[in-house]
Amino acid sequence: MEKLYAGRARIDVTPTKLPIMVNGQFEERWFDEIGDPLSVRAFVFRQGDEKIMLAVVDTCMMSGTFIDAAKAKIQKATGISEDRILISATHCHSAPSVEAILGTGVDEEYAAFLSGKIVEAAQKASENFAEIEAGFGQGEDPKNVFCRRFIMKPGTAWTVNPEFTGSPGDIAQMNPFGIEKNVVCSTDVADPWVRILALRTPDGVPYALLGNYSTHYAEEKAISADYFGVFCDRMAKGLNAPEGFTAIMSNGTSGDCNSIDFLGNPKREFGKISVGESVAEAALKAYPQIEFDPAPRLAMIEEKLTLGIRQPTADQLRQAEAYLADRGIDSVKGLKDYNDAYAWESVVLSKLPSTREVKIQVLRVGDTAIVALPMEVYTATGREIRFMSPFPHTIVISLANGCNGYMPTEESFRLGGYTTWRARTSCLEPLAERKVRKLVYGMLDRLAAEG
Ligand SMILES: [Zn+2]
Repeated sequence: MEKLYAGRARIDVTPTKLPIMVNGQFEERWFDEIGDPLSVRAFVFRQGDEKIMLAVVDTCMMSGTFIDAAKAKIQKATGISEDRILISATHCHSAPSVEAILGTGVDEEYAAFLSGKIVEAAQKASENFAEIEAGFGQGEDPKNVFCRRFIMKPGTAWTVNPEFTGSPGDIAQMNPFGIEKNVVCSTDVADPWVRILALRTPDGVPYALLGNYSTHYAEEKAISADYFGVFCDRMAKGLNAPEGFTAIMSNGTSGDCNSIDFLGNPKREFGKISVGESVAEAALKAYPQIEFDPAPRLAMIEEKLTLGIRQPTADQLRQAEAYLADRGIDSVKGLKDYNDAYAWESVVLSKLPSTREVKIQVLRVGDTAIVALPMEVYTATGREIRFMSPFPHTIVISLANGCNGYMPTEESFRLGGYTTWRARTSCLEPLAERKVRKLVYGMLDRLAAEG
């Protein structure tokens, strides 16, 4: 078996101009304080003629257009083919906005800066290759990930004008703050596993590590890499790794999960430090059991998939337009509540193409498969993919190579609730999740069959 080589890089992308616009919530926020640095963290793998890059960026989300532009530059600068590059967002909610979400705009200057830095990370990771061994480990941290969607007692779930959200009736609610007494049960069980793909040099020295955990984010007080950054620092220390060791924490299937224990202790205090350290502790506990493959097989497949976009009916669009006109709203700045926001989104969606092409990637490093999806993925999707995967270990990364909103399961649409409400944050057709899984199963099988 051919030897595997890897390069690694960590490039600082902390903004220098403050205050700066931050996305992740309904409205834009301006942060004027740096809590901790933001980074682009990247690996470039090389085996024979094959070169594959994996990068994770401390940002909420990046569009396919934004990422594709960076990939084109990377291909030019490093020779890594665009379809061999995986770029994902941690989905921290405490970084400058490079993607307009609901009522948030884009900081164009920062976006251009970030794009250049992603290319710089690719160049740096391509400069120094070391022979590596790879192995998979998993630790459990059930303390910091909970399903955040709940079936509510009849008539108590939060609802917005169904003509604007397209919801058939809201039975489920996300984050039932203060009305926990109305909860019947959560819609799923959370995935408590911290998965790690560890890379070390043949003499056994930790070289780099890819982590994956499925909680949404932990705090959003200042510009920060959130628990993802804390995890990376803690792993370097905990492994007593030499200078240059690069840990990456990727976002798993956090579309329906967060760190709030609504059913057990909703007032539980947590933050980036407590979550990051706890998740790292679980990974460090698992590390000694990792079996390293001295010559892991490297391969990757990228496929394009066309998905339908949910759009308002002609009548729903007329209602939304009339509602906004009646309230004198002609820009995002005028949006005051959720009815306004979803009426606005109905109009925005009506102007978008009715289908969209998305990129799906599957790669393998030894017996670990990595599935990269350009959506906010639910726990159930990750569970199904792992169940069907021919690989002993499968990691699912959300918000990779683009952002196409939440990808609820077909069943979730019948329960309604925020993550299913029709908006740019949730616009894919109800069968999207099923279509994506079907494609991924085939891709995983092909990668496994290559041996
Ligand atoms: Zn989010």
